[in-house]
Amino acid sequence: MAHKKLAFDDVNKGNKTPFAKMTAKTLKFVFKTAWEERKSVFLLYTLKLFAGALGEIKLLLLPKLLIDEIEAITLKADVSLHLHNAIVYVALTLAAEFLSNVLMNVADSSLNYCSQYFERILNYKLCSKSMEMDFQHTEDPTVLNQQEKARNGISWYSGGIIGMLGVFFQVLYNIALMLTSVTIFAFYCPLLLPVQILGMGFVTYFNFRKQKISYESFLKLGKINRVFGYYLFEVASQRFGKDTRLYDGSGLMSKRAEQYGHESVEMFKERATKCCKFDYRSNLSNAFRDGFSYLYLGYRTLKGFLTLGDFTMCISATSRLFQSLLGIGRGIQDLSEKCSYAYQFLMYLDYPDAISKGDKPVKEGDHEIVFENVSFKYPRSENYVLKDINITIKSGEHLSIVGLNGAGKTTFIKLLCRLYDVTEGRILIDGIDIKEYSTKEYRKLLAVVFQDFQLFAFSLKDNVAMGNADADLSEEKVKDALELSGLYEDAVKLDAGLETRLFKSFDENGTELSGGQRQKVAISRALYRDAPIVILDEPTAALDPLAEYEIYKKFDTLVGGKSAIYISHRLSSCKFCDHIAVFSDKTIKEYGTHDELVNKENGIYAEMFAAQAQYYVDAVS
Ligand code: ADP
Repeated sequence: MAHKKLAFDDVNKGNKTPFAKMTAKTLKFVFKTAWEERKSVFLLYTLKLFAGALGEIKLLLLPKLLIDEIEAITLKADVSLHLHNAIVYVALTLAAEFLSNVLMNVADSSLNYCSQYFERILNYKLCSKSMEMDFQHTEDPTVLNQQEKARNGISWYSGGIIGMLGVFFQVLYNIALMLTSVTIFAFYCPLLLPVQILGMGFVTYFNFRKQKISYESFLKLGKINRVFGYYLFEVASQRFGKDTRLYDGSGLMSKRAEQYGHESVEMFKERATKCCKFDYRSNLSNAFRDGFSYLYLGYRTLKGFLTLGDFTMCISATSRLFQSLLGIGRGIQDLSEKCSYAYQFLMYLDYPDAISKGDKPVKEGDHEIVFENVSFKYPRSENYVLKDINITIKSGEHLSIVGLNGAGKTTFIKLLCRLYDVTEGRILIDGIDIKEYSTKEYRKLLAVVFQDFQLFAFSLKDNVAMGNADADLSEEKVKDALELSGLYEDAVKLDAGLETRLFKSFDENGTELSGGQRQKVAISRALYRDAPIVILDEPTAALDPLAEYEIYKKFDTLVGGKSAIYISHRLSSCKFCDHIAVFSDKTIKEYGTHDELVNKENGIYAEMFAAQAQYYVDAVS
């Protein structure tokens, strides 16, 4: 169920898109979603319209008929006929009341259920977009603010699909009510019509001013709420548990949360003060309008132009006409306000890609990687992190990358993974710029273990087989991958074996693995993927020396004849690789085999290797 893509400049213009355009696009999305997902909602709204019409007959027409009958009885004209009629009207009033209430309750409770259903669908869309959007967006505060606005905009600010449809049908209902009331006025008191319209004009204008104030404060609140939520909820989560406690961070967090909480309260206060001014003006204009209506209708009744029943009906029609005109005005405003909030959701869904996307398939077989004059700056950063990188990694080659912290090793890997596009130069695989490949296909070439890999609160098996639907999941392959990484023996000892859930977030029998075990799960995940290019970013950092030795020993078996890129601080591990690239000063300063580099006079690698060897000698002696 796709909706038409918003123009790119809609997203750029962002909050400056006119209300009418936002309303039209959002309504189109709302109707399309409702129609495709649950057509019965339209039937339920028709039921509500019918129930409402019954209620109006009870309020407008039946009292007039009843009062006229009672008046006739008091005037002693054909009492038995009028008494009979009066009893019929009372019975009809009761029946209309009962039926309208029952229908309304049935429709409302069913719509309530539909509301939950749509909420799930919209949340799912939001979540999918967040997971599928380009990685660099996830670090961009503008995108994160937009995500917050989308989440709030499509939920409680707009009331979701049902909230917006509800207002739309309410407007339709009010239009029908207005036409009925206008017909009554045309017959009984035409002079009151312009007064009502003038009154509504004033109130609509005041409401429009209020709406603008509310929308402006909603846009400002997006960022404040996100930062407030971060301090209040995220830092209180288990992920930050150790650091918060050990560094006694709770005081700082609470102070920050209080500060942002205070800012949002101030904003609400300012909004309420500004809106209050317009409420006061609306009330004043209503008082004038009501006063005039009563005087005019009273005068016409006393003069004998209207019966008591007519008077009652006209008084009711006055308030119904005003209510309906007001309802239409307010409804349109409310709808455009709700749609403008929900439009933030559409903007988020259509957030443009950050990296260019090709559609070429990746060929089978061997793959050669070439970095050609590659330079790179992170988005929103002025400084180059990598400059003039030139390197070729032949199929089946094992390359080790070394360098001090911050030298750009991980960035080099991120570029190869297409988490970012290069700023200058090209990366070629099999002679084709990687931008030209279909991203999804391209990523299948790579099995990567990043330093800051994440495990999920799923079963051990699912963590290893990530990205494979249940039907394709091979338990044998999971076992092989665990065996290769050295975790299988530990895994079978777990209470539920491969089905054991990691972490205790959702299952009290879940397991908390050690740092080394976690790293082995991450390595198993990469092995399970069986991709032709294996990338390990400091894969042994959390392993004990014995486990580290095991991994090195098995390295050839682990990656087999595949190409492998291997970032490590422990230079002894580089001996296992065909070539070593030394990153320094944003570029590759040295390149060669271990033997070539270790013997290079004043070489960076030689110096680093000597320093580490010295450390190990010292540690042992
Ligand atoms: P290494 O892996 O060699 O330790 P990195 O590639 O992680 O180095 O980092 C290289 C430089 O890029 C560092 O100065 C780091 O601060 C910067 N950097 C890393 N990630 C980002 C990012 N997402 N945004 C901006 N700068 C970054």
